[in-house]
Amino acid sequence: MSAEKAGLVHRRLAALYGEHPERAPLDPVAELVSTFLSQNTSDRNRDRAFARLQERFPTWEALRDAPLEEVVEAIQSAGLARVKAPRIQAALRRISERGRLTLDFLAEMPLEEARAWLLGLDGVGPKTAAIVLLFAFGRPAFPVDTHIYRVTRRLGLIPERASREQAHRLLEGLFAPEIYYPVHLNLIRHGRETCFPRRPACARCLLLDLCPYGQGQVSP
Ligand code: SF4
Repeated sequence: MSAEKAGLVHRRLAALYGEHPERAPLDPVAELVSTFLSQNTSDRNRDRAFARLQERFPTWEALRDAPLEEVVEAIQSAGLARVKAPRIQAALRRISERGRLTLDFLAEMPLEEARAWLLGLDGVGPKTAAIVLLFAFGRPAFPVDTHIYRVTRRLGLIPERASREQAHRLLEGLFAPEIYYPVHLNLIRHGRETCFPRRPACARCLLLDLCPYGQGQVSP
């Protein structure tokens, strides 16, 4: 799979959806908590739950030490509250074991060590770890969500049989680190607006000439 093709995909999507200069990073703990909340729900529900958490618990320490039921109640809008609440509190306790409730130590850690540390938290998979590393620290990790996984396999950027875990590594090798952020956002948008899970709109897709799957869909 070629980095040249990956670069072309990026340039076309960037021309369509924009370059997306990196946003100001969130506090890394906030990024982690927000990412826990986002699992299996919409951005809107995640944001409502996050706002409610901040209202109810003014510090991370207060959230960490709150009765579990109060946290469950506060994040109802994000769904799976009984799974997410204990995970969030366990992560905050684990972070605190290092002395302070901050993830700043990850900025200096070698990348793979930082990734492994995050993956050691209950409920953190490769996508969540990469989101925290990329969004909060600007470190070269590429988060692969369900849209990116589908679109990049259809495009033949990664093999059809690649696992999600493998997809993270493969795409990190394919795209230049300085474009991880815009590529991540634009591939998600393309998956939501054109490359649907069922009946992708290949006939109007600007990547059709690069896409073996799409060509199979539109050929007579
Ligand atoms: S051509 Fe079809 S399958 Fe390929 S990226 Fe576009 S919408 Fe997806």
